[in-house]
Amino acid sequence: MWKQVVQLLGVVMMLASGVVPAQAGEISFNEFSVGEVNLRVMSLVQKDLNASILMPSTEEQKKAVAAAYPDGAIHNVLNVLLIRVPGAVALVDTGYDWTDEQMDEALRGAGLGREDVTHIIITHAHGDHVGGLVKDGKPAFSRAVVLFPERELTYWTSPENRKSASGGALKIFDNVANIAAAYKDRMGTFEAGENVCAALPGVLAMDESGHTPGHVGIMVSAEGKTFVFWSDLLHAFDVQAAHPAVSASFDMDPAAAARVREDMLNRARKEGWQVTGSHVPFTGPRVLK
Ligand SMILES: [Zn+2]
Repeated sequence: MWKQVVQLLGVVMMLASGVVPAQAGEISFNEFSVGEVNLRVMSLVQKDLNASILMPSTEEQKKAVAAAYPDGAIHNVLNVLLIRVPGAVALVDTGYDWTDEQMDEALRGAGLGREDVTHIIITHAHGDHVGGLVKDGKPAFSRAVVLFPERELTYWTSPENRKSASGGALKIFDNVANIAAAYKDRMGTFEAGENVCAALPGVLAMDESGHTPGHVGIMVSAEGKTFVFWSDLLHAFDVQAAHPAVSASFDMDPAAAARVREDMLNRARKEGWQVTGSHVPFTGPRVLK
């Protein structure tokens, strides 16, 4: 009974904070291929964000925010990406520390268990992207190698950086330390601009530093097609796709985040990339207008 009460309380608290877990059996997803690479974007939770996270500076930008989000809520989700190639199953990001059931359900829907995951590619160290990696101090994925962007891991494991951090940032340092302790010799890194690992040919990391110091997007290219999972390049698609200069309070370096957002969106439009991200209100890849 107490367990049920606690679970119920958890749901009430999540609802109060605007976060709604996807129900078991209701994980929405979109599956498609780029060349030999099978891709599946899976939505673990619906998550409204308060539009006050946005930092518009001009009148035009302020009007765009008010028009897109009249009730002050950015209707949003948390997406993760599954990549399958012969011989490897890779997850891009692992969700929150409270979305284990959603992750299990999402993997089950793809015909997989946690033990089938061979690689986990982390886009950055925020709690909604690495939260599912460790359970009670142990790896939540029994076999997977965890790959971090080199610059991101260096930043969040630096004792110097930790000394000048406070509040929520301290938790990120602790999380990364716990992940490194749990996965030990199954931790690796990749460089932005390069292939993430030899087992995943055609899967590249793209430098999107700004949101965090080593934030990356993941690009998959084959047979003249390009798909990009841009992770946290933006949090409010309906405003930021048209106004990339508008950053969010989550962006550690808002000016750098705005520059990389503008650059990536320009390239996406010019080169006809199919895109999606961690916090966009769709799972299917889109070609931007
Ligand atoms: Zn995020």
